Amino acid sequence: MSDESSIAVESRHEPGLYVKRDITLVEGRGARVWDESGREYIDCVGGHGVASVGHCNPRVRDALAEQAGKLITCPESFANDVRADYLRALARVTPAGIDRFFLCNSGTEAVEAAMKFARIHTGRSRIVAARRGFHGRTMGALAATWGKNHRRGVEHLITGTDHVSFGDIEGLRSAVDESTAAVLVELVQGEGGVHPADPAFVAEIEGLCRSRGALLILDEIQTGFGRTGAWFAADHYGVSPDLLCLAKAMAGGLPMGAVGIGERVDDFPPLSHGSTFGGGPLVCAAARATLEFIEAEDLPGRAARLGARLLEDLRGLDSPIVREVRGMGLMVGVDLRVRVSPILRSLQERGILALPAGATVLRFLPPLVIGEADLTEVVETLGEVLGEMAP
Ligand SMILES: *Cc1c(COP(=O)(O)O)cnc(C)c1O
Repeated sequence: MSDESSIAVESRHEPGLYVKRDITLVEGRGARVWDESGREYIDCVGGHGVASVGHCNPRVRDALAEQAGKLITCPESFANDVRADYLRALARVTPAGIDRFFLCNSGTEAVEAAMKFARIHTGRSRIVAARRGFHGRTMGALAATWGKNHRRGVEHLITGTDHVSFGDIEGLRSAVDESTAAVLVELVQGEGGVHPADPAFVAEIEGLCRSRGALLILDEIQTGFGRTGAWFAADHYGVSPDLLCLAKAMAGGLPMGAVGIGERVDDFPPLSHGSTFGGGPLVCAAARATLEFIEAEDLPGRAARLGARLLEDLRGLDSPIVREVRGMGLMVGVDLRVRVSPILRSLQERGILALPAGATVLRFLPPLVIGEADLTEVVETLGEVLGEMAP
């Protein structure tokens, strides 16, 4: 190993796409991570909501080790025992009616597939999405993503999507018509600032999709697998998606995505979509272990309980810098009257890692296994940081 820091090497050999922190993480366990100097952090980034079952979850680790010695790769043109077993388990926990899945490797791939499926199924082309929504960064999914930064340089190639304000029922009624293949939304906007949807807006989306022949695509890439205090946010809203996009937490930290397909959608013609890596035995083994762990530990229930307390404690901080505290389960945002980056930095200096969601929202996406004492420490430390900043 050379003496050069990982940060220096990455900044030379990567093209500058990420806003990087100034620490190098080398180890993780549960809701804790360690940097190369051995410093410990409470991790409320959780791999951007990926590490729900905790870093290096022993059940996932063992499943990976075992499967790695058996069969790592197997394309979908052959059946595989672990994949079949996982599909059966996944169908058991996803919302009623969702019992077929296209397996892929990331969130954006799941959204790409869902948009394509909706167009194939309906023979229509347009997608209605929400302002402030985030659905991924590849060319198809990008058309549904709202943020201008994400579209820079390719704006002119992005077509086929109409955006309405998140919650604007009138706007929705005029946007969804006979050319609409699907409405695509998050039930709690994540990157857009942690905004839970208004139930009336969600009910209107579902009603309009049914009456106007469009499909309802829910992007539960961030909200899925227990994050919001239910297996899926759709369970809270009692909404029944036609296509359900999944990724992030689904395979215990490994790259995996999926589209769940509801009963109103037919099978697709052979070769109309596919993926070389999708549904590989290694990620399926990790995903099966993840699902079993979520179920055995009732992580959705835990997220509901700890999330409610976290929201209450954060609201109790009662700082003049805090505009609003929002969230569902362990997906929590603190909307600030100031920019979030100095606060993220101060938290990090005090051993707590958190995320931004836009310029002024502080976001917590901790592993759902996080201890109550850790959450108490997070709130107390934030209280100190805000206290030092208050005018
Ligand atoms: C993270 C995320 C995506 C994109 O997932 P990638 O795996 O980064 O492609 C899409 N939608 C939502 C809601 C997300 O949170």
